[in-house]
Amino acid sequence: MSEIHLDPYLSRYAARTRGMGASEIRALFSVASRPEVVSLAGGSPDTAALDYDAVAAVFDEIARTNGPAALQYGGGQGLPALREQLVEVMAAEHTPAHADDLVVTTGGQQALDLVTKLFCDPGDVVVAEGPSYVGALGAFSAYQAEVVHAPMDEAGLMPDALADVLARLRHAGRRPKFLYTIPNHQNPAGVSLSTERRQRVLAIAEEHDLLVVEDNPYGLIDFKGEQHPTLRSLAPERVVYVGTLSKIFAPGIRVGWVAAAGPLRDKLILLKEASDLCQSNLAQCVAERWLATQPWLVQVGHFRELYRGRCAALIDELTNELPAACTWSVPTGGLFVWARMPEGIHTGELLARALSARVAYVPGRAFYADGGGARDLRLCFSSAREERIREGVRRLAEVVTSELELIRAVSG
Ligand code: PMP
Repeated sequence: MSEIHLDPYLSRYAARTRGMGASEIRALFSVASRPEVVSLAGGSPDTAALDYDAVAAVFDEIARTNGPAALQYGGGQGLPALREQLVEVMAAEHTPAHADDLVVTTGGQQALDLVTKLFCDPGDVVVAEGPSYVGALGAFSAYQAEVVHAPMDEAGLMPDALADVLARLRHAGRRPKFLYTIPNHQNPAGVSLSTERRQRVLAIAEEHDLLVVEDNPYGLIDFKGEQHPTLRSLAPERVVYVGTLSKIFAPGIRVGWVAAAGPLRDKLILLKEASDLCQSNLAQCVAERWLATQPWLVQVGHFRELYRGRCAALIDELTNELPAACTWSVPTGGLFVWARMPEGIHTGELLARALSARVAYVPGRAFYADGGGARDLRLCFSSAREERIREGVRRLAEVVTSELELIRAVSG
């Protein structure tokens, strides 16, 4: 008799774990990280582009001048000196904030987890762009929230469609807990919400008395250094803002933050303390010294330039190599391109063939809570060099082309 590997703890798990499977991205990583595979699948910034003399100077200063405090427990809200610096980071996007209103978190991911924990009971509705950030979908699922997607086009979330979604929910007697949105260089769609639409989205939120959670890791990674006003700057009382240093400094530091009005901030501090007592003081000291003593905006400029070139190489190669029926977003910043394959192609099923051809991407379905995205895929341009990106696209194009030939042969 064949052996069946059942999970012996299955009957003991909390109900909230039922919807949780290994993310498609995680499952991919073991194969995609093999050296022969060109991985356009990850979402990592290029930490090799940092100035390591500057990094070493920061570590050295902390060890020599502030070691005992840096290696001690800290407070649940985060170091005051770091929060002052994070106010400056928000000021770089013209977003007023006060250090008292910030809560430092373990990356933006913990901020999303805490915000969801704060607002969502099982069965509550969260409205999110479709497609949306896979880590946020994971957090919503962990708290058994139901995600209702609102569609995007090349100018980001579509206000009329959002209004329809909210009207339908209202009609059904359901009040969403919040709108989760990534207005700048959206992950995974690679588009930004136009300035005009920002006002409309906020007006719709106002009309429905809907809280907005604005997740903004990529606002400063605009290839031209241009900026749209953050939603938080336009409607501070309505918007809970989530920031992170992962894309403008380093993800390994794990410093993110939430900016929220007084009572929300107090609740978030309690949740943060219940979760991990406090953020790593060492990481906070590194982040604080980096921001206070190094030309961090110059470094952001280097990232922008690097990614601008890599994005251009990716778009150029897609244009040259992919079959005509494919379409894709043309980002003006961030790390991602979102591509749609021709009718008949299922990107989840195609992945095994792509990996055999030594190229990896993330299937679009990972970014939807409702099974959408079957013809879509996400390509990341931040971590591979331009030549590798081009090679990866050539491999992908061969796989897509031969799949299309197969489909035509079978159907015709
Ligand atoms: N939000 C979005 C949209 C992201 O793309 C990411 C990272 N990929 C995060 C939040 C979380 O990043 P971190 O926890 O490293 O700050």
